[in-house]
Amino acid sequence: MSLLKRRGKMPELRKDPIIGRWIIISTERAKRPHDFKSTHTSPPEKECPFCRGKENMTPQEVYSIKNEKGEWVVRIIPSKNPFLEVNTELWKKGKGPYDLMGGGGIHEVVVETPYHIANMADLEAEDIRKVFFVYCQRFKEIEKNPSIKYVLIFKNYGWSAGGGRVKHSRSQIIATPVNLKRVKEELEGAKFYYNYHERCIFCDIIRQELTSKERLVLDEDGFIAFVPFASRFPFEVWILPKDHSCDFYKIEEEKLFFLSQVIKKILFKIKSLLKDPPYNYVIHTAPFRRPHPHYWSTIEEDFHWHIEITPRLTEVAGFEWGSGFYICPTLPEEAARYLREA
Ligand SMILES: [Zn+2]
Ligand SMILES: [Zn+2]
Ligand SMILES: [Zn+2]
Repeated sequence: MSLLKRRGKMPELRKDPIIGRWIIISTERAKRPHDFKSTHTSPPEKECPFCRGKENMTPQEVYSIKNEKGEWVVRIIPSKNPFLEVNTELWKKGKGPYDLMGGGGIHEVVVETPYHIANMADLEAEDIRKVFFVYCQRFKEIEKNPSIKYVLIFKNYGWSAGGGRVKHSRSQIIATPVNLKRVKEELEGAKFYYNYHERCIFCDIIRQELTSKERLVLDEDGFIAFVPFASRFPFEVWILPKDHSCDFYKIEEEKLFFLSQVIKKILFKIKSLLKDPPYNYVIHTAPFRRPHPHYWSTIEEDFHWHIEITPRLTEVAGFEWGSGFYICPTLPEEAARYLREA
């Protein structure tokens, strides 16, 4: 029986198959797209330093791609308020139960367009392709730095998603000398599943989603987009390449255009269906295999890169912070149906 048919008013617990996190689907307060208030109230916009012509308002760029006229179309600049800094000495020490480390790392901003456009959903697929191309180039450059273990690429769009007071489409790159907890949970979960089944859990999830189609949003040109079975947030969407690969930045260049078309469609569906909500996306990819190459010995087979897009329609409250349990007020199967039809 389909999950949609047995949908009742009773809350349902669902377990994320990768990291084992439980979530609560509470349709008691069932939420359909129009039930969500657009939380786009934000303080007045500040002067934009990211538009073409305002380059003197930002730090010197570290990378850019240019058009035939020599003007930049996508550029990367160091963050003005970095969480981590490149030239910090790498040190480590312990104090009793506490470990400390110098904040050495990289924090950069990818300015995705020279024009004052707020939402990536409003860029052309070709412009989005350039952004993802730039991500890959930056990955390859950062990989040469032996102290970096992980590169996280993410986007905050809209005030309540951490997007700040300037409404100019951009994303961030953080490179760290340590592996990130959220990613490590996924890596460990995927490895555990692989050890037992000798299959990639993400490939198994893709097969399941393509068979059941209940949570499927898009399936085209080698990519799949679906609402995860144990969604933390209403209208959460994951995008995965159907061909198995653990490293995002090793994607073939010709596939980037297909990926950018899928991203454009999903972001546009979210924008139109949910009245331009704030959202985040993050790319989860494998860490650089250092300095313990054998520690993740099966990672090429067991992990599968993906993009997680999470609209910010609900507030994460004390219960979620304290318990790690998320409450999702929309049935994932229903969210998928709305997104398919949008
Ligand atoms: Zn601007
Ligand atoms: Zn896979
Ligand atoms: Zn992930």
